[in-house]
Amino acid sequence: MQKCRLNEEAVYAFKIMDENGVMDAEYERMLRRASEQGQLKCEDCGGDITFKFGKVKIPHFSHKSSILGGGCSYSMESEEHIQGKKLLMNLMLKAYPDVYAEMRYRFSNGKWADLYFNFGDAQELVIEFQRELNSLAYLEEKRSFYKSINVRDLWIARGSREEFENILREYEFVFQHRLFLNDNNNKLLALDVDRRELLIASKMTVVDDVTGEVVMDRIFHKVYDINDIKILPDGTVECEYDREFKAVRNKFVQTCLHEKEKERLRKELEKRERKRNEEQKRRYKEEQERLKQLVKEDEDIYERTDAWSDIGYSRKSYVYSSNKPAPKKNYYNYTKNDYYYKDKVNKAIRRYRYGIENLVRILKRCGSSEYSTIKKIFEEEINKGNINAKKVYDEVMKLSGLY
Ligand SMILES: [Zn+2]
Repeated sequence: MQKCRLNEEAVYAFKIMDENGVMDAEYERMLRRASEQGQLKCEDCGGDITFKFGKVKIPHFSHKSSILGGGCSYSMESEEHIQGKKLLMNLMLKAYPDVYAEMRYRFSNGKWADLYFNFGDAQELVIEFQRELNSLAYLEEKRSFYKSINVRDLWIARGSREEFENILREYEFVFQHRLFLNDNNNKLLALDVDRRELLIASKMTVVDDVTGEVVMDRIFHKVYDINDIKILPDGTVECEYDREFKAVRNKFVQTCLHEKEKERLRKELEKRERKRNEEQKRRYKEEQERLKQLVKEDEDIYERTDAWSDIGYSRKSYVYSSNKPAPKKNYYNYTKNDYYYKDKVNKAIRRYRYGIENLVRILKRCGSSEYSTIKKIFEEEINKGNINAKKVYDEVMKLSGLY
């Protein structure tokens, strides 16, 4: 142990030597004298304490009676806990030489604080170095006690670079670390006693501005030499951290929002593409319907202008039984048919919608006299110098399989 009482005053074994191994001879002499005279007392059990600094090169106290010491809670404190407290106490004493500081401070209600500082002007600070979470109830009870007596409290966990390096998300922390993070204004403090480093970690969050929900979080952390930080009397930590965190967080948020916007645009594009495909399908179907309708109308006209019906032949029967000899046409009917085909040919030449298709359909089903008529109409146009007529003629014949 590092602390005991000498005439009710707190004395510390580590105070006889500073960080660099420079001795305080006066302080050591005082402790040794008190130890020999049996004036050093344990804070917990009141038992006699001896000061030791011999072969083991760490100045410390221990209970005179090992039986008593074995039953005293103070003896069970771990070395890491003691060293951590010592580090923090020295840090504070360096920054505030006039502060009243006490390790293992006992409040009037019997509660212990790891480190207690009184800055005067009723400004008191407690620092708790908790290597692991005793229990949630223990922590909450202590915190509400400090609040009730208006004492600021700062909780520091144990941690190391290796532990923090791989942590990206809040849920990857152990519960104690998450608790400290959220309880301490989004700032988790962890002490690496061996390396004398203080680790600070915070959570960066991206909030959806529509729903107000957190859509992404990341843990940011930095490692500082313990001597590069300063703990203020109100329990906040002063160092480069805040500025750096702000910059990194802003960048993170911007990147996330940018990604989100990209994702939104991608979805919007997909939606449009889908709509266009549907529209195309719909139009295709409509055209198919119209084509069917046109064929039907076409056939109706065909029936009406059928030359053969007047002389007792069905047009269809002629088409489907082409081995029958073509009956002689009278002039009137011939003209009527001629008009019909002229119309079809003209529409094809002028590239009416379905003009070519209609003509091809007729040619595929018609007999030789209709073919001759159509050919004749084309030839008339071509002889007039209509280049387009020639082009359409070639195309129609090719499509009908007549070339
Ligand atoms: Zn004791």
